[in-house]
Amino acid sequence: MDLAGLKVLVAGLGKSGLAAIELLVEKGAHTQGTDSRAIEQIPGAGPLLERLGVEFSAQSVELFRGFDLIVLSPGVPVDLPEIEAGRKSGAKVIGEVELASWFLRGPVIGITGSNGKTTTTALTGHLLKECGIACQVGGNIGLAPAGMIGSSRADQWNVLELSSFQLETIEKFRAAIGVCVNVTPDHLDRHHTIAAYAAAKRRLFETQQAGDWAVLNADDATAKGYVAGIASTPVWFSVEGRAEAGWRLEKGHIYRDRELLMPASEIPLRGRHNIENVMAAAAAAHLGGARLEGIRAAVRSFPGVEHRIEFVRETGGVAYYNDSKATNVDATLKAIAAFDGGLWIILGGKDKGSDYRPLARPLKEKARAALLIGAAAEKIAAEIGDAAPVVSCGTLERAVEYAAERATAGDTVLLAPACASFDQFENYEHRGRMFKTFVAKIVETNRRER
Ligand code: ADP
Repeated sequence: MDLAGLKVLVAGLGKSGLAAIELLVEKGAHTQGTDSRAIEQIPGAGPLLERLGVEFSAQSVELFRGFDLIVLSPGVPVDLPEIEAGRKSGAKVIGEVELASWFLRGPVIGITGSNGKTTTTALTGHLLKECGIACQVGGNIGLAPAGMIGSSRADQWNVLELSSFQLETIEKFRAAIGVCVNVTPDHLDRHHTIAAYAAAKRRLFETQQAGDWAVLNADDATAKGYVAGIASTPVWFSVEGRAEAGWRLEKGHIYRDRELLMPASEIPLRGRHNIENVMAAAAAAHLGGARLEGIRAAVRSFPGVEHRIEFVRETGGVAYYNDSKATNVDATLKAIAAFDGGLWIILGGKDKGSDYRPLARPLKEKARAALLIGAAAEKIAAEIGDAAPVVSCGTLERAVEYAAERATAGDTVLLAPACASFDQFENYEHRGRMFKTFVAKIVETNRRER
């Protein structure tokens, strides 16, 4: 694809937009950047644009007119009036993933889903590497696809985590292996309807060709529907043991057709949802050339991903787990389901308009107490009622201290807040790191008192 001399506007200067700008400049395009924020507020943008000689302009309908190509970051809604104006004036509008795919060497494993994308993507990369198969991992985690081009090779897999925002704008981008872990309601503020959200994820399979593979969750009604009218061949997985699924969980063991992969008890990650992630990743790695024995050994050595039901420490017989990435109710339900009981669970943060009532029953069964923090505390307290003792702790530090003072051997302190973090923290990673810092303090206090 020859971009030399084309007039290109990149909208949204997050990680993906900046990677797109670097790529476009390298390809000789006359590139400009825009964002709804002032340039000073965008980390890293000012110096980079200056170094590349790329002009920045505030977002306006006027600005978007007169380009050959407009490249959107995943954070930019496709239905902005500015973009419509650009399109009408003759620009082609694409996303950063589509742009990257014009230059990326090597085949793609594309992984999407509502929950479990990062875990499945990291695990797929780990399985391939441990089995001696060359790959690089990125997309919605780590490097943006446009930043992976320099290190891409024809004989190396590109394992990409892909969100609905990245997929809704693809045209020619093609995954030789596409994976959908699950589809549950999310991001309805941007996609408006669950149908539009599901359709965005479906794009991953619509651009596939005959000979490609679609790894799909046979237990998920929406993912199941993706198979209609696509050119690729489905490969099903099912934790419910569905007979039609090539990858099945049966009596605690994972099979591929009649061959045993491994007992699920050997998976070093907690929770049934992680069995799904393992099956999805194993199926993708297997299609990518990995053998079952190698996959089994590699699953056992997977260290997990930070902030996803991450084991932090055990002190005084009490275990501490960080699931700061549980930013919605569904993820918190999965976290609770991953433990047998004795939970001191920390909930709260910035409410996303969620319904917390589904938490009441599992809390009643498994929680010693719900420790509430942040702006959503009152709403959560009202909606879970008297399912478990509720303690308003205000801050995360206070919640950890409260739990540490009362938990007894065999109990678990779990941060799985079901909320966004932005009321008290920069992001979920910051919240998870602070949790680990507070746990380290408890460990230190216990050590001194011993
Ligand atoms: P994503 O990248 O899709 O957000 P992550 O792997 O980061 O997925 O996990 C996000 C949250 O969802 C975590 O709290 C995690 O424990 C939970 N989770 C992981 N895999 C699944 C799954 N297959 N189904 C439901 N929840 C999951």
